[in-house]
Amino acid sequence: LGAARTLWELIDRRAALTPDRRILLQDDRVLTFGGLRDAAERTAAGLYGMGVRPGTVVAWQLPTTVETVILTAALARIGAVQSPVIPFYRDREVGFALRACAAEYFAVPGEWRGFDHRAMAERIGAHGVFDAYGTLPQGDPAVLPPPPADGTAVRWIYWTSGTTSDPKGVRHTDRSLIAAGACLAHALRLTPDDVGSIAFPFAHIGGADYLVMLMLYGFPAVLFEKFALPDALPEYRRHGVTTAGGSTAFYSMFLAEQRKLPPGERLIPTLRLLAGGGAPKPPELYHAVVRELGCALTHGYGMTEVPMITMGSPDDSPDDLATTEGRPPEGMEIRIVDGEVRLRGEAVCRGYLDPAHNAEAFDDEGFLRTGDLGHLTPSGHLVLTGRRKDVIIRKGENISAKEIEDLLHTHPAIADAAVIGLPDEDRGERVCAVLEQRPGTEPLLLPEVAAFLADLGLAPYKIPEQVEVVAGLPRNETLRKVLKYKLRERFGQDLP
Ligand code: ATP
Ligand code: MG
Repeated sequence: LGAARTLWELIDRRAALTPDRRILLQDDRVLTFGGLRDAAERTAAGLYGMGVRPGTVVAWQLPTTVETVILTAALARIGAVQSPVIPFYRDREVGFALRACAAEYFAVPGEWRGFDHRAMAERIGAHGVFDAYGTLPQGDPAVLPPPPADGTAVRWIYWTSGTTSDPKGVRHTDRSLIAAGACLAHALRLTPDDVGSIAFPFAHIGGADYLVMLMLYGFPAVLFEKFALPDALPEYRRHGVTTAGGSTAFYSMFLAEQRKLPPGERLIPTLRLLAGGGAPKPPELYHAVVRELGCALTHGYGMTEVPMITMGSPDDSPDDLATTEGRPPEGMEIRIVDGEVRLRGEAVCRGYLDPAHNAEAFDDEGFLRTGDLGHLTPSGHLVLTGRRKDVIIRKGENISAKEIEDLLHTHPAIADAAVIGLPDEDRGERVCAVLEQRPGTEPLLLPEVAAFLADLGLAPYKIPEQVEVVAGLPRNETLRKVLKYKLRERFGQDLP
């Protein structure tokens, strides 16, 4: 199966191999590998009837549901270009993404978690809006042209978190995503007997990675549309989940629930592996998880451009698992130049949507400059030490300080603003805005600042949860750049 050229080929071959094995479990729904292929073909035919052809750009902003996975597979069947957008994004981010990728169609959930996605689509002038939540377009597969044969065509446009500027559209191929998924499954030592789970938004690049893993190994995953651990626990137990994953905040949630139980009682008796990445992980957290949850923990490093860079493996020593991001898989070349991590390999994206970004992103030998700082240990494990850019990671979602600062600067009472991440037990980091106000203006309070940003269409998860007004922001002598570490020291202790 690893030799499959395209995602559809993988789906089709797996369906032929084990049609009756289960792949997706959500609430009381069960979809088999054969069922997924058939449903995807019917949906592909429905999309084809709407005018979707090989190469047509279809954006979708959908939660993690069985339908979303079917839609992804259907678009892969046609050979369309799909652009997943995370469900938390609002007018501003979605409008930017749809324009940048010139989406001809946009799949939305209608209303979801109290937000009207259809109305938003109308406000931002999206083309070809259709509902893909609960129902999907249907048609007779006989109308479909043959599936795509070439795995090296760009068929995916994912969006970076927009830490340094507007989000960048990242071009992936079926081949790059299959390479990443195969490496991940191998690093995690997954088997057909595993029962996985997808608790993070499927629209993240990790979603396609996970789908590839399910196809390669033929095991099922439990899907969570709205994830809250206490509600999810009975599902984990009912389905005998063996591996769960997410960001660093995810591990802390598991630990907190475990600590509510009497000693000796395991939270999820079948859980053998917690796996995740995307944010720094304190070594103490690693040790606490292994000791208290009684399962392995592997943590890795990835980015939208390269979803799988390094990953800890159950075979690594506890010390390496606690203090490093693991090793690169075969085929991933890592180079450290001036402290920066650079990468080349199959799983690396085919550049950015905007060609202007590509010149500076790749060096002369075709290595991607990650913007992350790190070094390799003698055993080849990667240690990350920071990033060139400035990012806040709240509940596993990367948030750009600059984006929020730019919006705050448009407020008439604000002279200057610095947005920082402060350590937070529940969220990993919380967003704090430090404001320098114009002389003679009333001090701003959190509710006003939050309402101001929400009115500008900023996604709720990016809105500051703490606001501090200072007489003057600390700056360096030479460039007058704001010294954010001083603000973090000053405000990072406790919520007032
Ligand atoms: P943009 O590229 O738009 O500025 P971004 O880099 O935040 O935004 P993502 O692709 O979502 O967008 O995030 C990837 C980044 O997350 C990595 O480059 C790295 O800085 C950080 N990261 C990923 N995994 C880890 C990890 N295990 N430890 C620390 N940081 C990590
Ligand atoms: Mg980046």
